[in-house]
Amino acid sequence: MSMEHEELVKCSKCGHEDGFIIWQSLNATLNPEAKADMMESCLFEHKCPKCGHVDSYTYDLLYHDMESMLMIQLCESEERVADYIAMFDDLSKKTDELIKMDDDYTLRLVNSRNNLREKVYIFDQGLDDRIIELMKLFIRFDISQENPEHEVDEIFLEIRDDVPTRFAICLTDGQWGSVPFNQEVYDRIKEEMIDPEDNGKRDYIVNMQWAGECIHNMAEKLNE
Ligand SMILES: [Zn+2]
Repeated sequence: MSMEHEELVKCSKCGHEDGFIIWQSLNATLNPEAKADMMESCLFEHKCPKCGHVDSYTYDLLYHDMESMLMIQLCESEERVADYIAMFDDLSKKTDELIKMDDDYTLRLVNSRNNLREKVYIFDQGLDDRIIELMKLFIRFDISQENPEHEVDEIFLEIRDDVPTRFAICLTDGQWGSVPFNQEVYDRIKEEMIDPEDNGKRDYIVNMQWAGECIHNMAEKLNE
């Protein structure tokens, strides 16, 4: 089930008040149209019916895909991260009828709408987000070696027509670049760096730090 409620919002341009739906949780299986809005980012936007101005709103949202057994909590505030980790820990123990959690559920916590959309794309394509984060880290490393004058801000996987096409690279000076998605690199990382015994489904936060720790742990093992 989804949980949503309406709040009154005031247009930042003309001051007109209007209702705006806030989704505390969004069940993608039951509300595919809301998922589509989320992927287009318009779920977080309100268009004023009076003047047409669009205001953007940020709120915490739990994305739930029953078919893919996936839950992703969006939380843009650092302060609530610990609360959501505790919530996931509680959920992991749940066996009641409402949310029957078993080991097959993947749980993730993300700190931006872009990261939420990217994770959904990744899981919808049956890809492993841990491998994607490792690929991104290697791209960062390559850029730091070959183009040290460029400082990378963020990297996002782009998926077009259900195929991962390239990584979009946002530099801190606002410029954008890209590198193609390389399936061979993906497969090699999967084989060489991902423990087949560890499905990573309860690695709540899989981001650049996660990838850095993964490489650090591998290096330590090699040195043992
Ligand atoms: Zn307005």
